[in-house]
Amino acid sequence: MVDTALDGYAVGRKLSKIGLKTSDTAELSFTDVKVPVEDLLGEENKGFSYLGQNLPQERLSIAVGAYAQASAAVRFAQAYTQDRNIFGKSVASFQNTKFELAACKAKVDAMESSVDRGLELHDAGELTAADAASLKLFCTEAASDVIDRCLQLHGGYGYINEYPIARLYADNRVNRIYGGTSEVMRSIIAKDMGL
Ligand SMILES: Cc1cc2nc3c(=O)[nH]c(=O)nc-3n(C[C@H](O)[C@H](O)[C@H](O)COP(=O)(O)OP(=O)(O)OC[C@H]3O[C@@H](n4cnc5c(N)ncnc54)[C@H](O)[C@@H]3O)c2cc1C
Repeated sequence: MVDTALDGYAVGRKLSKIGLKTSDTAELSFTDVKVPVEDLLGEENKGFSYLGQNLPQERLSIAVGAYAQASAAVRFAQAYTQDRNIFGKSVASFQNTKFELAACKAKVDAMESSVDRGLELHDAGELTAADAASLKLFCTEAASDVIDRCLQLHGGYGYINEYPIARLYADNRVNRIYGGTSEVMRSIIAKDMGL
């Protein structure tokens, strides 16, 4: 545990992100900080191992968030397309819109089943690193696809920040990066497959 009053600790610039504007992300530096022995949490040199033990849970929570975002995107797109009229016809009445929304709903349903299974495994203390990687990979990639398609159904307003779909689009993108990238998730799954 590092006391932030210690010499050498400094908060750097706040980083400007494309989404997740409600949470600050800043550079922290620890230059030659001397941490007293009594501030040691756990055992020396085990920090990375402790961090690793919580990664499946972190990846599960990112998958749950991605599922919730995708589910909200479908609700927003359905409401918007039912409301928006073009030459006397609602956007929702076009066959393409129905097919797009139906395909997105099917993906959201599959995500729901996946996160339910992940939560059950986690509750039982049985969620493995590979299970969590698979869940995060599937849900975050599927959510990106769903949100992109739902934004498309909004037309130009989908690109305008006052519509919640635009914020979802920006906020969702980091899910495929943080908590371990999709490429790292694929590596974990492949290793578990003996590849
Ligand atoms: C908003 C935000 C919040 C964050 N919050 C936290 C946090 O709270 N705690 C924390 O610890 N971290 C946090 N991170 C860091 C985040 O987990 C890392 O950015 C992420 O894991 C990717 O690491 P990197 O940025 O070093 O990318 P790099 O490792 O430099 O990766 C660059 C590219 O190379 C690819 N790549 C890397 N290795 C391989 C490989 N072996 N095979 C194939 N491709 C590969 C990656 O997939 C990626 O496409 C946060 C990041 C962001 C953007």
